[in-house]
Amino acid sequence: MVTITDNQTRTCPDCLQLVPIRAFCSHRGICYRCYAAYMRRYRAAKQSRTIRQFTAQVKRERDARKVQALCGQMFAKFGGVDKFAAAWKANLDAAPRGSRGAFNSYLAILRLVETANTPAPQPDCSLYSDAELQAAMDREAQKAALRLLARLS
Ligand SMILES: [Zn+2]
Repeated sequence: MVTITDNQTRTCPDCLQLVPIRAFCSHRGICYRCYAAYMRRYRAAKQSRTIRQFTAQVKRERDARKVQALCGQMFAKFGGVDKFAAAWKANLDAAPRGSRGAFNSYLAILRLVETANTPAPQPDCSLYSDAELQAAMDREAQKAALRLLARLS
């Protein structure tokens, strides 16, 4: 059995520093400081890839509900609207000026503005019978009453 003492060192192949063997990551064979930096770069690249995919999808999506769903996925993935917006802005700031990534981001922002300013399509009431319309109105009235009760309680 080999015991490792505190004064044993090894050269990290990444930073070329002499590092105590206990401060080595066995997973990648580099010191923990280099491993932490590697993981930061890895997570940033993964986040950047996710945002690039999001902007590419949103800029060409014509269905407002799908745009909303894509946004909901990003909010869940990044832990909220603020964190997603901050990550997107950081990604846009890091993108080279005039690059496809930056262009896609601006097109996606325009698409989000367009989606937010487009009213939801109204159903064509001529397709429904009077009884169906009455049932739909009753359901909407019930929902409104429940929302009002929830706000009051
Ligand atoms: Zn290192």
